[in-house]
Amino acid sequence: MENENDLILSIAAHFQTEGVISQVKRFGSGHINDTFRLDTEKVGDPSYLLQRINRFIFPEPQHLMDNMDLVCGHLQTKFAHLGKEQVQRRTLTIIPTKHSKLYHEDAQGDSWRMLLLIENTHSVDLVRSPAQAYAGGAAFGAFQRQLADLEAKKLHVLLPRFHDVDYRLENLRNALITHPMGRTVEPEVQKLLQAMEIRETDMRRDFIERIVTVSPLRIIHNDTKFNNLLLDQDDRPQCVIDLDTVMPGYVAFDFGDAIRTIINSGQEDDPALENITLNIPLFEAYTNGYLQEAGSFLTEPEMDSLLYGVYLLPYMQILRFLTDYIEYDPYYKTEYPSHNLVRAQAQFKLLTELEAHRTRLQYILHQFAAS
Ligand code: ADP
Ligand code: MG
Ligand code: MG
Repeated sequence: MENENDLILSIAAHFQTEGVISQVKRFGSGHINDTFRLDTEKVGDPSYLLQRINRFIFPEPQHLMDNMDLVCGHLQTKFAHLGKEQVQRRTLTIIPTKHSKLYHEDAQGDSWRMLLLIENTHSVDLVRSPAQAYAGGAAFGAFQRQLADLEAKKLHVLLPRFHDVDYRLENLRNALITHPMGRTVEPEVQKLLQAMEIRETDMRRDFIERIVTVSPLRIIHNDTKFNNLLLDQDDRPQCVIDLDTVMPGYVAFDFGDAIRTIINSGQEDDPALENITLNIPLFEAYTNGYLQEAGSFLTEPEMDSLLYGVYLLPYMQILRFLTDYIEYDPYYKTEYPSHNLVRAQAQFKLLTELEAHRTRLQYILHQFAAS
């Protein structure tokens, strides 16, 4: 975009920044929002992040920002004893607009928010070492613990039924009704549909009986990808970021989704299925870190629910990729025609690996839960 720089500067002018912004750079590897880094002329002035909120996913920016404000405010009180500098490293700081609003809506109807940039940090797309996995588990565990005394009902439900297996199954059924021919009849699709059907009763039962009815509704992150954690130079966790999806939910969802991405030694869209095996040491390290921080507040049924999350989240992800493939890719960006099918197949391979190693994973979870 030709005038992107000018556009960003003109948007930034609506916010209560210190100093004069002199540099704009695209930033980060997030897939949802467009993120820009803003630097000021004077050394010592803070740097900022300006983010365009994805309006297709989040049509209600006011609700989104209300949630974020509530969560950040709560976390700030938890870190207050460390002093202002640490507070601003441990949680996101929203920079209000000059009208004291939490976001700015431009003439095109796009919504923008500004955050303080946390200096000397980085995020990692793929976990490399058990030490990093441990740090991730500890960070997301601490995040849930710090929010455990904030009433979940105070948050808006931005994405209703986000981790609801019945909702994902309904979406798949609707896709099959609207697209009875086309991709639906491909043998690979039929094979996956059968594999999903075989597991449906168990997954729905686990969802209801092992997670929803036995766990308290809490505030969870809902997008526990590893790159939503900022680390310092020594890979120590600094701050959990990307609070767009923070909503009421169950801890098993956050745990299962984190494991889904961490334990896979292949890529999420790996066409070579033999690459997809389990990295058990990373599972062990994440679980250890998580329970170090979360062990103190989790109820016994919640501890037991974690294992079910490990199966449910990949299962739901297969349903989502498969639905998107059958519907000719309206949701996930694709790089080639069968991309969503390849993703679904890769995720299914992961699920079968998880199934084959169930006893081992359960043993590890019990071991750390008991310690
Ligand atoms: P998305 O929803 O698109 O993933 P994120 O909020 O995760 O958006 O931001 C994208 C990337 O920008 C992050 O992965 C991280 O590298 C970087 N980032 C986000 N917030 C901050 C911050 N406050 N300080 C430093 N870097 C940040
Ligand atoms: Mg992100
Ligand atoms: Mg996000």
